[in-house]
Amino acid sequence: MALFTRFFLICSLLLPGTVDFAQTPSVYDQHDAFAPLFYPAFGDAVRAADGTPGPAYWQNRADYKVDASLDTAQHAITGSVIITYTNNSPQDLSFVWLQLDQNIYNNASRGIAATPFGGGRWANRNAFNGGYTISSVSLVQNGQVQPVKYEVTDTRMQIKPGKIIHAKGGVISFKIAWSFVVPEYGTDRTGRLKTKNGWIYEVAQWYPRMCVYDNVVGWNTLPYLGQGEFYLEYGDINYNITLPSSLIVVGSGELLNPQEVLTSTQIKRWNAAKTSDKTVMLRTEAEVTDPASRPSGKANLTWKFKCINTRDVAWGASTAFVWDAARMNLPGGKKALAMSAYPVESAQDTAWKRSTEYVKGAIEFYSSYLYPFSYPTATNVAGIVAGMEYPGIVFCGVNAKKGGLWGVTSHEFGHNWFPMIVGSNERKYPWMDEGFNTFINTLAEKAFNNGEYKNNRGRNAQTLGRPFFGEGTEAILNIPDVTQPANLGTVAYRKPGFGLQLLRENVLGPDRFDSAFSYYVHKWAFKHPTPWDFFHCMENSSGETMDWFWRGWFINNWKLDMAVTGVSYVQNDSSKGSVITIACLEKLPMPVTVEVKETNGKTGRVTLPVEIWQHGSVWKFGYNSTSALEKVTIDPDNTLPDINSKNNSWPQE
Ligand SMILES: [Zn+2]
Repeated sequence: MALFTRFFLICSLLLPGTVDFAQTPSVYDQHDAFAPLFYPAFGDAVRAADGTPGPAYWQNRADYKVDASLDTAQHAITGSVIITYTNNSPQDLSFVWLQLDQNIYNNASRGIAATPFGGGRWANRNAFNGGYTISSVSLVQNGQVQPVKYEVTDTRMQIKPGKIIHAKGGVISFKIAWSFVVPEYGTDRTGRLKTKNGWIYEVAQWYPRMCVYDNVVGWNTLPYLGQGEFYLEYGDINYNITLPSSLIVVGSGELLNPQEVLTSTQIKRWNAAKTSDKTVMLRTEAEVTDPASRPSGKANLTWKFKCINTRDVAWGASTAFVWDAARMNLPGGKKALAMSAYPVESAQDTAWKRSTEYVKGAIEFYSSYLYPFSYPTATNVAGIVAGMEYPGIVFCGVNAKKGGLWGVTSHEFGHNWFPMIVGSNERKYPWMDEGFNTFINTLAEKAFNNGEYKNNRGRNAQTLGRPFFGEGTEAILNIPDVTQPANLGTVAYRKPGFGLQLLRENVLGPDRFDSAFSYYVHKWAFKHPTPWDFFHCMENSSGETMDWFWRGWFINNWKLDMAVTGVSYVQNDSSKGSVITIACLEKLPMPVTVEVKETNGKTGRVTLPVEIWQHGSVWKFGYNSTSALEKVTIDPDNTLPDINSKNNSWPQE
């Protein structure tokens, strides 16, 4: 039936015309674009073919108890951690791998050696020579500690406990004692900044963390070189920070002992903030230098935090913090607390005094769009780090203002969904967190405060063709350490982010896309999806096969060039209808919209599915016009990053 209909259309419409396609060669090949067997493996009981965790899905677990102290004279952190590791895999393990990411700051590190001459954002600065000093590694058994064999290779540590960690639930505990000096500039992810009223510490990658063991590669042990971020197991983390009582600490998760570390006034204000949608000052600018804004009587205090079901924790500490908070209203009546900690230098109405409003706006939006925010607090810390995310806490630039501060705050907290809730492998697939996050940021930007900071970025997608498909631009599916630093913004952020926008606006439509994307987030919340799981999941939920898009947009860097190549009339009579010829000149097909203007003043639009390109690079379709055509335009709203917009209209301008 389908064949017959097509034959009939061709017979009735393909009459002499003015097609000039022969002059415009196409590199498009439908056999490449729609080749079967896209997936490298069939689904199995662990990673099901429908893109969800299968009935035998497993994931190992890492729980941590950390005790650390900060020596503010030496800027040094000394601590110990007890890691309780649960092997839920179907295999016995005889060794484990951990990440020692502080070791990137050791002058002998691979990260420093592999930093291009001239430095860059991920470079070590000021010839700082840091890294971990490991003082002991022990096995904890029946309350006893016993030294165990371990080996450190750059940013990795292997521990051979001398016993098997049994499959399907075997548990082992290690205790590691360590120290390091906090770098002033720590690859723009951690560090410290001197302000008028003292140093602001932003502490991350600060305790040894388990590598992920999975059914994809086994142990994920790529070294930390700077550009690639993190891949971590979930668990509960209790951490205690001891430091001079003059410092305020903000950290991931719940503060367990506010009565010990806050003044009674601050506790009262904290409780007021829990019921206030307007920002409540916990510590005002005037109070920063007032000793009464800290509990008296003790030289040091221990701040106790707990973060449940998390892949990491980070914290900030300073004598200089102005501190404020407001309630966040989450789906299902849940509440959480948005907070900001910043120095007086940043306390302007055009800057950090609005930070908590931004935290609240961003998190409330993402919570209702995708999945409820999962921690009791969300804190934005102003410091040396320009923008970096951790569970329930982010570090944003101390000088950020207005839309810049909104943008970085929304972006860093957007990471609470990718990769904090959906725990993908950032060190290999940055687009699964940065790209997905960039996409949701554009939606949050439209929603926040009636579009206060909405900009026109991407409104004319044709301007994106050049950066997305430039000569030196790499494919999205590359590990970040291999992506050229100048391309990272395109390859890991903007192009994958725009890819989701194309799926939402041009392929599936907002309702189907939003439903499928939320389904992916819910299915993989607190789990470890691969790119294939994401692709499978989106296809199964939306019912649409999109291998042509995954292949062209993510795996290859296929360009997009749509064109209108000719117009003719049925029986050469413009009153009987017209035949429009369009072409796909580059390798990436897309569904298209074509706008037709007639000389009689009528305008109409035709939307064509991607399947038209299953027949080749040229497509003809009939249009029920009653007069000669004045103009035919493909992608009239400029939604496609078309590399050559000159051929998008007929007649060519
Ligand atoms: Zn990011």
